[in-house]
Amino acid sequence: MIPGGVNSPARAFRSVGGTPVFFTHGKGAWVYDEDGNRYIDLINSWGPLILGHSHPEIIEAAVAAMQRSSSFGAPTAAEIDMAHRVIGCFPSIEKVRMVNSGTEATMSAVRLARGYTGRDKIIKFAGNYHGHGDSFLIAAGSGLMTHGVPDSAGVTKGTAEDTLTATYNDLADVRRLVDANPEHIAAIILEPVVGNMGLVKPEPGFLAGLREICDRTGIVLIFDEVMTGFRLSLGGAQELLGVRPDITTLGKIIGGGLPVGAYGGKAEIMDYISPVGPIYQAGTLSGNPVAMAAGGVMLRLLKEDPDLYVRLEQTGAALEAGWNEIFTEKGIPYTVNRVGSMMTVFFNEGPVRNLTESKRSDTAKFGQFFHAMLGRGVYLPPSQFEALFISDCIGESELDQVLTATRESLKDF
Ligand code: PLP
Repeated sequence: MIPGGVNSPARAFRSVGGTPVFFTHGKGAWVYDEDGNRYIDLINSWGPLILGHSHPEIIEAAVAAMQRSSSFGAPTAAEIDMAHRVIGCFPSIEKVRMVNSGTEATMSAVRLARGYTGRDKIIKFAGNYHGHGDSFLIAAGSGLMTHGVPDSAGVTKGTAEDTLTATYNDLADVRRLVDANPEHIAAIILEPVVGNMGLVKPEPGFLAGLREICDRTGIVLIFDEVMTGFRLSLGGAQELLGVRPDITTLGKIIGGGLPVGAYGGKAEIMDYISPVGPIYQAGTLSGNPVAMAAGGVMLRLLKEDPDLYVRLEQTGAALEAGWNEIFTEKGIPYTVNRVGSMMTVFFNEGPVRNLTESKRSDTAKFGQFFHAMLGRGVYLPPSQFEALFISDCIGESELDQVLTATRESLKDF
């Protein structure tokens, strides 16, 4: 009844084989399936549940909001509270607009950049995912300066031609595209730390180099922090890495597990949005009171805990060290890429700095590893090309269980 049995393809087990697990509930670090099995969750809804499943204060806030009514389609104070919290943590954001998903945020941000600059083309990076908007479903690096090739059927040739694809961590490639399209590029959009070709870090100087290109050419720099916002630090990847974009897109964590996205940036640019400016963007359920209540409490809890990101870093570092030891002992070619609580083990001796290098991984081996771990109660992303997300509920005991499962899983390799 449902295409592929799933409502989002990342949930299907196509790249690892087998059929997806159907879940009933989650508590803290653990999730429980329809067959009565339990797993340590290393996906956490693809990032939002940084405090683990079913946090009591988030539940309480969402239930209380629901009791006051699920939606008004009119302003509420909770939206102002959310805007304060986002702006307070992201100095590059002077004004912010709430939407309902990360996809909506990136689509709207690109329309805004186009309307603001009066230019049509955008540059994205192969292997970066920005949701399923038409402009973003082009990843094939089919040669610099040539027209984009649609990765998805249903994307028109015209749309594909307006999306130029560059190699991540390759400033020279970006410069070539910019020089070949003078005055035509509205925006450069990227994940400042990539989660969508497995975890890939920006090389030193890459983000600053993009900032310099954009400043020189009037291109709008968009950091897609749907995954990294409030995950790598309170101020996202931009705070951690010290480069400020013109527009930031957010999602995932800011909804506390409910469907939310946001885009924000310089007031001068944001004021091009309707009803102040000429660029239309709207949403019946945007700023929904239940989502704002859940997300508002989530952001308050993150802000009130000064040690949270230190703990997440320590847990991430411990898992990385454990995997390094076990994979090295076993003699399997591998690379662990990690920033804070996001990481990937590639079955590939690395380094992994872009899509071409990520694709060198042995995906059959990854599939074998995935199922061996699943059978031992650890729920990893069912794809070599997705990052895992650690929640604050992963303590020493869960970490030990993940490392024991890893050791046992690799016995058969
Ligand atoms: N941008 C990034 C970096 C993402 O990782 C995702 C989803 O994983 C999106 C945008 C799209 O967000 P959503 O799935 O909420 O539409």
